[in-house]
Amino acid sequence: MPGFIYAFFIVFFTLLGFVIGSFLNVIIYRIPAGRSVSKGHSMCMTCGHTLGALDLVPVFSWLFLRGKCRYCGAPIASRYAKIESFTGLTFGIAAVSACEYCAPVIVWPDNLNLIFFTIYFFLLIASMAVAISAMMILYDTGKCFTGFAVTSLVLAGIATMLPFIMGFYGFSETVLIFSFEEIIVTCGKIAFGLGLTALLCLIFKRKYGKAELGIDIIMLTIPCYDQFLFLGNEFVRTVITSVVYAVCMCIMRSPGRRKYSAITAFTVILVYVAVRFCLTKIFL
Ligand SMILES: [Zn+2]
Repeated sequence: MPGFIYAFFIVFFTLLGFVIGSFLNVIIYRIPAGRSVSKGHSMCMTCGHTLGALDLVPVFSWLFLRGKCRYCGAPIASRYAKIESFTGLTFGIAAVSACEYCAPVIVWPDNLNLIFFTIYFFLLIASMAVAISAMMILYDTGKCFTGFAVTSLVLAGIATMLPFIMGFYGFSETVLIFSFEEIIVTCGKIAFGLGLTALLCLIFKRKYGKAELGIDIIMLTIPCYDQFLFLGNEFVRTVITSVVYAVCMCIMRSPGRRKYSAITAFTVILVYVAVRFCLTKIFL
């Protein structure tokens, strides 16, 4: 893949992340309140003024208006811009990893693999977007929207298996031949992650309830993102990733701080993935 397309891909998906993050803000605010996501305009929480297009540009509006409402001057919470930036960052990291480890096997521009690569990448970022809304709703309400968590896991699971299903690695003769072995390994990784967290909860004497299961499901999507991030021993990196997030969650999981645990674990894993990616670039 030529360098400028590579750069364009990463910048484009980071900006797309800002836009999707803006939509996630609406979902996170309205779904727990039982309101429609598509109906109704965004308005200022203080003066009730309907917000125009210029007030709703993700991240940039908040920066240029210096965190204040254009109409009444009331401060606007920074969390909207934070969620937008965070979504942009996760999409950017997904784009870097996808370019790094998938693009070399794609014969640019016309190849069946390119279609599968696109499907794979969109499943991945959709999974991240759903995971972010699930953990923010958990943070706000203390309630786990299990449907969101499971959706996120299913999307990431399909994305993880897709390359094996489609023979992604340039072996054209394997296209459309299922690799049952890899599908079983992926299911095994998911079961291993859940079992390990339950075990660590026992060791740390934490309760393993519905909210914990929800956090686990959200977090389990992360090792799936790891697919192309490290060209080392897959078993070792799965174990390391699982241990990092499980320990992190068990430490965070006192009832008072439970609502922070999904965000903390997600952030820790994201930083961990980024650091490991840099180390891979330096040492391999
Ligand atoms: Zn206002």
